[in-house]
Amino acid sequence: MVRSRVARFSPSSWLDGGVAGLGIAALVVAFALGPTLEITGGNLSVVATNLAYPVAELVLIVILVTSVVATRASDRSFWLLGSGIAIFGVSDVLYMFLEASGTYAEGGLLDVGWPLGAVLMGSAACTARAADRPTKDIGQRFTIPTIFAATSVGLLLWGQGHDLAVVAILLTTSALVVAAMRVMLTLSEVRALAASRVEARTDELTGLANRRSLLELLDAADAPDTTLALLMIDLDRFKEVNDSLGHAAGDRLLRFVGERLRDAVSPDVVVGRLGGDEFALVVRNLSSGEAVDMGKRIRTTLADPFDLEGMPIIADASIGVACSSEQGTTAATILARADIAMYRAKRDRTGVEAYCPAADTMSPDHFELLADLRAAFTGRQFVLHYQPQLDLRSGEVVGVEALVRWNHPRRGLVPPDTFLSMLEQTNQMSALTAVVLRQSLTDAAELGRAGVPIRMSVNISASDLVHEQLADKIARQLDRVGLRPEMLTIEVTEDTVMIDRVRSLRTLHQIRASGVNISVDDYGTGRASLSYIRDLPITELKLDRSFLEGIPVDTHNAAIVRSTIELAHALDLPLVAEGVEDQAALDWLANLGCDLGQGYHISRPMPLTQLRSWLLARSAPTVEPDVEPTRSRRVVEMM
Ligand code: C2E
Ligand code: CA
Ligand code: CA
Repeated sequence: MVRSRVARFSPSSWLDGGVAGLGIAALVVAFALGPTLEITGGNLSVVATNLAYPVAELVLIVILVTSVVATRASDRSFWLLGSGIAIFGVSDVLYMFLEASGTYAEGGLLDVGWPLGAVLMGSAACTARAADRPTKDIGQRFTIPTIFAATSVGLLLWGQGHDLAVVAILLTTSALVVAAMRVMLTLSEVRALAASRVEARTDELTGLANRRSLLELLDAADAPDTTLALLMIDLDRFKEVNDSLGHAAGDRLLRFVGERLRDAVSPDVVVGRLGGDEFALVVRNLSSGEAVDMGKRIRTTLADPFDLEGMPIIADASIGVACSSEQGTTAATILARADIAMYRAKRDRTGVEAYCPAADTMSPDHFELLADLRAAFTGRQFVLHYQPQLDLRSGEVVGVEALVRWNHPRRGLVPPDTFLSMLEQTNQMSALTAVVLRQSLTDAAELGRAGVPIRMSVNISASDLVHEQLADKIARQLDRVGLRPEMLTIEVTEDTVMIDRVRSLRTLHQIRASGVNISVDDYGTGRASLSYIRDLPITELKLDRSFLEGIPVDTHNAAIVRSTIELAHALDLPLVAEGVEDQAALDWLANLGCDLGQGYHISRPMPLTQLRSWLLARSAPTVEPDVEPTRSRRVVEMM
């Protein structure tokens, strides 16, 4: 019966059983056997014979109680068996009393005890079955051993005033010793359990929360008025560190990063490692925008070099942000969304991105936008914003870059990152380029007529470059509006050109031959080798805006910018710095001899009408006549 109920006994179960068994034995010896011994006057042969029965039954009872307590299972069959043995035992003890005092008469009431006991034991066998595993809580588990420990103490106290058999005292004492062992075992078990709980939630390498604990935390985000923000932090070039410096160094870097993250945030932010080189922060009640700001701060913190085997290592990171604010967000969805955002941050090299449903190719939002895309062409919903480029030597605006937006009827202005990849996937990219070329050149011509002639830069994608007629199309558009080809610059990224090198190169040469300028966009982020770029028919390098981050304080980035300026000049190419966000960066670039600057500090991209008045206002003659000497070097204060 016991085996059918428990697969494995724990030491604590045995100790519980021991306390109960010894307690029962002590009681029985004290109140049943002891007196009998007295009555028989200690005649051992009589006692031994008569005692054999009750002692055997006592052993059975002890076994039964021990196993009931140990298995924590007490169903009907146990009770039947127990009462069967007990009635048997009581009958035997009574028999012993009567026999000892010579008053036993055959056929009396006592004789019913034995068959009754046998019947009960038999029915226990009939009802016995593999019972369901009883699950009792800790409190219940402790009741029986506690009761018997208490009776043992009671018995010892009672023994102070009464004659207690030596065996009973021994049994009681043993019961208490076992009870004490049980308590000590429980204490150490509880301690071990607590430790293992902490361990199961801790990342071994960094001591931070592990994936499981982060998931548990995110699952709790269901609660009505808590929103959780998850920042997923992925180190950008961890594999290189691992490969070049070895795994031990990689592990050390991970520990350093963990420590720095821990130090960078307040104590109520949960910092964890999801695995590999992926870390995560979970913050309560933080909006997506605030989380993005926090992500930017984290990136700056990590940009401080780590000292690894005497080598300064910078842990560049890409961070994806997702919030639990919308309903129905489980831990898995938040994690998946942060992952999508993180991937975008990595791909677009923006550093930090928040999850945006439209960019998620699996979300209903994405399909809706995809369906709306056709109407965007027919309904002329693509609009162009223009961002000025400043000549850092003269302080004059010499060009603008055309940046497309989708003026969606319900969503308002949709940024290009959201829909460009959809266009690419649905083969509509060259249709967009045609729209952008036509519009931007029309606008450039109009600005010329308005008295502010300006160079126009247009972004071209990989799929455009493989079209043989691109050069022709461009030439025709220039003709149509009457603009000279040198007023147009097309921007291509290194990777764009790498996709189909032979055809792209042919197209680029055709375009360049017609007099149109060619700029290498996002320079420094691509995979093309320098010698390859040198062979392209290009007229300008445009340094990616990620290198302008933290300029001039960030010495690492500053070194890159400085050497890129030198490189561009060595190749006889002007350098455009993108992402100029403050005056300090602007001054610093101008001092280093960087040719052109573009960025929010100079101006955000703006629609044509706004651009026209902006340009006209700037080109208006200055009132003060005495600014002349410093004017050419100093860059005009903007905004
Ligand atoms: P891009 O060519 O690198 O364009 C510069 C992006 O940086 C623009 O984002 C611009 O708004 C943003 N930006 C400008 N100044 C700053 C600054 O100071 N700080 C920061 N953080 N950002 C600045 P936008 O307009 O969202 O364009 C994103 C990308 O979409 C462009 O990157 C370009 O690759 C693509 N794109 C935009 N318009 C077109 C287009 O007409 N055709 C094609 N094929 N691609 C386009
Ligand atoms: Ca561009
Ligand atoms: Ca760029």
